[in-house]
Amino acid sequence: MFRAVRFLRRSPTPSPSSFVKLISPSPHAHLSVVPSASFQSTAMAPSKPAKRKAQTTLLANGITKTSNITLSKKRKTTASPAPTPAPALPGSSPPTDQPPVENLDPLRAPHPSHEISSANGIVLRAFYPREMSNARARAYNADALPRPMETLNASLAAAAAQRVATAVGRAVVHWFKMDLRTADNRALSQASDKAREAGVPLVALYVLSPQDFEAHLTASVRVDFMLRCLAVLREDLARLDIPLWIETVAERNKVPERVLELMERWGARHLFVNLEYEVDELRREAKMARMCAEKAMALHVAHDTCVVMPGTLRSGTGRPYAVYSPWYRAWVRHIHENLELLELSEGPSRNPASAREIFAGLFDCDIPPPPENKRLSEEEAQIFQSLWPAGEHEAMKRLDKFCEADIGGYAANRNIPSTSGTSNLSVHFASGTLSARTAVRVARDRNKTKKLDAGIEGIQTWISEVAWRDFYKHVLVHWPYTCMNKPFKPEYSNIEWSYDQEHFAAWTEGRTGFPIVDAAMRQLRGMGWMHNRCRMIVASFLSKDLLLDWRMGERYFMEHLIDGDFASNNGGWGFAASVGVDPQPYFRIFNPLLQSEKFDPQGDYIRKWVPELKGVVGKAIHDPYGRGVGPQAKKAGYPKPIVEHKGARERALAAYKRGIESGL
Ligand SMILES: Cc1cc2nc3c(=O)[nH]c(=O)nc-3n(C[C@H](O)[C@H](O)[C@H](O)COP(=O)(O)OP(=O)(O)OC[C@H]3O[C@@H](n4cnc5c(N)ncnc54)[C@H](O)[C@@H]3O)c2cc1C
Repeated sequence: MFRAVRFLRRSPTPSPSSFVKLISPSPHAHLSVVPSASFQSTAMAPSKPAKRKAQTTLLANGITKTSNITLSKKRKTTASPAPTPAPALPGSSPPTDQPPVENLDPLRAPHPSHEISSANGIVLRAFYPREMSNARARAYNADALPRPMETLNASLAAAAAQRVATAVGRAVVHWFKMDLRTADNRALSQASDKAREAGVPLVALYVLSPQDFEAHLTASVRVDFMLRCLAVLREDLARLDIPLWIETVAERNKVPERVLELMERWGARHLFVNLEYEVDELRREAKMARMCAEKAMALHVAHDTCVVMPGTLRSGTGRPYAVYSPWYRAWVRHIHENLELLELSEGPSRNPASAREIFAGLFDCDIPPPPENKRLSEEEAQIFQSLWPAGEHEAMKRLDKFCEADIGGYAANRNIPSTSGTSNLSVHFASGTLSARTAVRVARDRNKTKKLDAGIEGIQTWISEVAWRDFYKHVLVHWPYTCMNKPFKPEYSNIEWSYDQEHFAAWTEGRTGFPIVDAAMRQLRGMGWMHNRCRMIVASFLSKDLLLDWRMGERYFMEHLIDGDFASNNGGWGFAASVGVDPQPYFRIFNPLLQSEKFDPQGDYIRKWVPELKGVVGKAIHDPYGRGVGPQAKKAGYPKPIVEHKGARERALAAYKRGIESGL
C-alpha cells in the first residue's frame, strides 16, 4: 500500500483564466467568528488588487522555469523499487489518462522528480495525480488557484437561501466522521435542535469507507479504535432513542450519493456535519453542498474541531500567520475577546418515542468488521484495547485525571519520555472523542486566573500545546498543497533525498544502532503511539542523518499511529525535517546522542524499549559501541550505528543547501 495524502484526484484542472478567478472576498473575513458554516458564505482570503501584478510575475516565473525541466537523473534511487503502473481501483478514478509531461502547461505539469515520489510510495497513484510542480504550489500561495475551503464556501453561499427555505421532512440527519462523541459536538447539537423544533427524530449516520482508509493510510490500530468508539457512541445514542446507522461504502467517490440516498429513504432533508479540513474532505463537502442543492436538500456544516476556526486569525498586514508564536498570541487574544468560543455545546436531546417505531430497523445496526487490510491480530487487538480504552467517557476520565494529577508538572516533565508527563489525549482528539474546546475549557477552569496565558505554568504550557493542533489545521487550510505531498516551501521539493531501503527498514524496525531512536521506533510499534520528544528525534534522524525523504517517514507514522492526524503529523514532520511552516532551520540538526543524554538521562526509556541493552549500566546506554560496551551489546544482538552522525550531518547540510539553491 502506498502513502496517501488527502488530494482528490478529480480536482478541477484550472483553465489559464481561472488562475485569476477569486472567490468573492469579504474584507472582514479574517475577523469574523462563525460557529457554523451553514451561516457562512464568504471566502476566507480577501483579494487585494495590488497582488495581481505579483501573481502574474510569479506565475510567469514559474512557467519559464518549469517548462524546460527534464527528469532529474541525479537522484539516488538505486535501492528503490521500479516505478509501477498505477493500479485501478473501483471508484478511485485511476490516473491513466494524463497527457505526456511535455504537453502540459506548467501548472498541470508534474514536478521533475514525480516518478521518484510515485515509485517510492509517497504519492499514492491509485488515488492521486503525479506530484505537482512547484509552480502550481506557488499559484496557491499567490491566491491564483482556489483553495478547497474557498470552493466549499462558494458552494455553501450559493445554497444559502435554499438552506433556510428547505422544509425539515420526516427526520434530521447528523453524519458522524471524526467527531465520535455526543458531548460538546457543534453539528450534532445543531442537528438535534433542528429536529426538536420540528418535532421529528434525529438519525445519526456513520459511513465506513475502506478506500478512504487506504488513501489516507489510516493505521489498523486507529481503525480498531474508531470501531470501538462507534460501539460506545451507538449505546449512548440509543439511550436517547437516537439510532446510529453504520454503513460500509466500497467506493469512496460514491459516498456522497449514498448519503443522499439514505436521506431520501428516511425522508430527511437536512444534513449536519462537522468539517474536516483535509483537501479530499473539503472537496467532497463542496460536492455534497451542490448535490444537496440539486435535490432540494440542505447541508449544514459546522466548524468544530478547532477552538478557533482556521482562517480567522491574520497578521496586522492581513496575511495568514506562517509562524507559530505570533499566531499563538493572536489565538489567545482572540479567545479572550470572544469567550463564547469556549462555550460547550449541549448534548443531543432525547428523540420522540415514535423514533423507535419509525426507524426500528436502524437500531439493530451492527458495528462492521474492519476492512481485510486493516485487521489486527487477536493478540494485538487485546493489547491495544487495554492500552487505549475507547469512547468519550474514557476521554473525559483521562482528561480529568491528567488535570488532577499531572498538568501542574507538565512544563517540567513533558519532554521526558520515561515519565507519564503528558496527557495521552491525542488519540481522543484525533477521533473526536474529545473536543479541543472542552479540553482547553477544563484546563483553563483549573487556573484561578481564568486566563489562557497566566497562572499555573503547567496549564499554560499544556494549552499552548493543544493550540499547535489548531495552528497546523490553519496551515492546512491556507496552504492546501501541504496536503498534496508538497512541502510548505516549494523549493524544498528539490532536495536530493536518499531512498535507501535498508536504512529505511532499520529505522522502522528500531535497529539503527542509535538507542534513543530505536527505543522510540519500538514504542511506536508496541503502543501505536510515541512521545512527542521522540517523534522529533526520529523524524530528524530520518531526514537529516539518513537523508531519507521525510515523506516516507510521514507515511510510516500515519500507518502506525493510533493518533494519526494529517495536519499534526505533516506539521511535525515539516518542523523536524525543516521543510514545513515555522520549521527548525535546516542547519540545526539534532545530535541523537545529546538528545538521548538530555531527555533520557538515566536511560530508563531506552532500557524499557530496547531489551538488548537492559544490562548496560551508566552513560554507555546512550552509545554502547562508542562507550566501551560494544561486545556486550553485540552479544545481546544490538546492532552497530548504521551511520556516523558527524559525517551524516555534513552530507545533510550540503544536500539541503543544494536543493534550496537549485532554483526550481
Ligand atoms: C514528527 C511528528 C509527528 C506527529 N504526528 C502527530 C499525529 O499524527 N497526530 C497528533 O495528534 N500529533 C502528532 N504530533 C504531535 C505530538 O507529538 C502529539 O500530539 C503528542 O505526542 C501526543 O501526546 P499527548 O496527547 O500526550 O500530548 P500532550 O503533550 O499532552 O499535548 C496535548 C495535546 O496537544 C496537541 N499537541 C501537542 N503537541 C503538538 C504538536 N507538536 N503538534 C500538534 N499538536 C500537538 C495534541 O493534540 C496533544 O494531544 C507529531 C509530532 C511530530 C514531531
